[in-house]
Amino acid sequence: MRNTTIATTVGGGLEISKIHDEVLRANEAYAADFGDKANLPMPPGRRFAVLTCMDARLDPAKFAGLAEGDAHVIRNAGGRASDDAIRSLVISYKLLGTREWFIVHHTDCGMETFTDEVMRRLLASSLKTATVDQSGWHDSGEGRGSTEGNYIDWLTIANLEQSVVEDVERVRNHPLVPGDIPIYGFVYDVKSGRLVPVPDAMAAGKAR
Ligand SMILES: [Zn+2]
Repeated sequence: MRNTTIATTVGGGLEISKIHDEVLRANEAYAADFGDKANLPMPPGRRFAVLTCMDARLDPAKFAGLAEGDAHVIRNAGGRASDDAIRSLVISYKLLGTREWFIVHHTDCGMETFTDEVMRRLLASSLKTATVDQSGWHDSGEGRGSTEGNYIDWLTIANLEQSVVEDVERVRNHPLVPGDIPIYGFVYDVKSGRLVPVPDAMAAGKAR
């Protein structure tokens, strides 16, 4: 299992109150230099949208060269084409005029490290943060768990390239998505910062 990255990052131990203050201080500095951004229109100026994973190592503004006002960025665990991601993409096009969409999954994604069954078992055991090692995910069993996890499709990833293809196909074939929007499928490499195209996804996402 590719669990090393998670094991070294979960439970880093920064105090919650410290983070709160750091964020507010950073925001103070950002707002002090806000300038012309006050006049940005709501529709994205470069008329495209990116659907990608919430992974902290991915910064779409940097890897795709975005400034404020340029594009929509929709993020969730895995960058999956969930019903809610599609809701956002449809609004992005129908009301705010984006014309091209990028779906970007990435190497070493946490969504490759578990299955629905594992997540449901962990949550049923307790709600506390689980730990991971070479033998997989473990739960402390402290406190109450919940079987609510059984009712959620966690949209985990068994095969990285295949998940990009499936998500591009799902969006491409969705009845609320017009055929003339090109949908591009990529894997972002966390070791190089590169966007690597997925040929089958590119073919599936071609504008009709
Ligand atoms: Zn991820």
